[in-house]
Amino acid sequence: MGPLRTVVLVILGISSLTFIALFGRLPVFSYILHENHPLVLIFFLGLLAIGEYFFLPTAWPWMSSIHKFWVPGVVILPFVLIYKCVVTKSFITSQNHDEEMKRYPYDRVLFHPGQRCRTCHFLKPARSKHCNICRACVSRHDHHCVWLMNCIGANNYVYFLSLLLSLSVLLTYGTLLGYSLLSQTLQEIVPSEYQAAMKGWKMYFNIWAVVITADAKIGTVTLLMLMTAPLAAAFLVYHTYLVWAGMTTNESAKWSDWKCDVEDKLVFKAKRSQIPGAPRYMDLGDQPWPVDSDQILVLDDEPPADGYILSTDSNFIKYHSRPGAPVDGWERTDSMGDIVNIYDLGFWNNLKDSVGLPVRRKW
Ligand SMILES: [Zn+2]
Ligand SMILES: [Zn+2]
Repeated sequence: MGPLRTVVLVILGISSLTFIALFGRLPVFSYILHENHPLVLIFFLGLLAIGEYFFLPTAWPWMSSIHKFWVPGVVILPFVLIYKCVVTKSFITSQNHDEEMKRYPYDRVLFHPGQRCRTCHFLKPARSKHCNICRACVSRHDHHCVWLMNCIGANNYVYFLSLLLSLSVLLTYGTLLGYSLLSQTLQEIVPSEYQAAMKGWKMYFNIWAVVITADAKIGTVTLLMLMTAPLAAAFLVYHTYLVWAGMTTNESAKWSDWKCDVEDKLVFKAKRSQIPGAPRYMDLGDQPWPVDSDQILVLDDEPPADGYILSTDSNFIKYHSRPGAPVDGWERTDSMGDIVNIYDLGFWNNLKDSVGLPVRRKW
C-alpha cells in the first residue's frame, strides 16, 4: 500500500520531531534548544500553516454555513496569539526595575530579599528569574518556551494561556470536522456489506486505512490533529492547575524541593510574631498584598537552638556561637498543608493576577 505508507511516514516523522522539540535532549538538538534559535518556531508555524493549506481548500466546499462562520476565527486566532507571545517581553530593565520590585512581596520561602542577579546585577524581584537563553531577568518567570523563542512571564502569560486554549479548540474542532468529512468519504467508497463488517477491530482499521489513503490530505491532517489535540489539552490542564495552585512552572519545581525536605523532616516552622527580630515581608506601600502570613520556615536537621541567627537571604540558620539549648516556638512541619503559599489568592484572583489584572485592594 504505497500511499498509506507515505501517510504513516509523514505522521511518524512529524510526531518524532514534535517529541524531540518538547522533550529532546539529543546533543544534535541541544544547540537549537539552548540558543534562541527560530527553527522550532518555524517548524511549529509551518505545521499549522501546511496543515491548514491541505485541509481547508478540500474541506471548505463540504462545510455548512455555521462552520464557515467559525472556521476563519479558529484558524487565525492561534497565529495572532503566537505573534503576541513571541513579541511580548517580560524583561526587567533599569527603567522598570523599581516598579517590578513592588509587583510581589518576598515570601521568604521561595524568594528572599537582597539577592542580586549575577548577570544583570539587579536586585531580583520576588517571583522573577534570570533566563540564560533570553539573557535577561524575567518578571513572574514561568518558563522559557523554545516553541515561542521567548520566556513566558508577567506580560505574555495571558497570551500563552489563550494560545493553549485556542490550540485545544482548533485541534479538537479540526479532528471532529475531519472525522465527519472522512465518514462521508467512507459512505461513498466503501460498499455497505464491508461497512457492516466494521465491528471487528481488524476490519475497522483496514477500512479506515483505505478511507485515509483515498482522501490523503484530509486523512493525514486529521490523524495529526487527533494525535496533537491531547497534547495541547494536557498543557492547558496543567497550566489551569498551576493557576489554581497559585504557582508558576518555575515555582512548582521549588515547591517540589520543599515537599522533599518536609518528607525528610528537615523543615521547622515558627510564628513570626513570636520570634524577636524576625524579618517582615517587604513593605509594598499603601496597597498591601492580600495574603499575610505569620510563618517563618527554616531548613535544618534540628530545630534552632540558643545562639541562632535567622539568615536574611535563605531559609538556613547561622550560629554566632556553638548551638546551645533548644529554643521555644519552633515546630517540625509534617505536611505541605502547614505551609502557606502567599501567592495563592484563590483560583479567580490567581487567574486575574496571572493575566495582569490588579488583585490588591486599598484598606
Ligand atoms: Zn538577570
Ligand atoms: Zn527565556
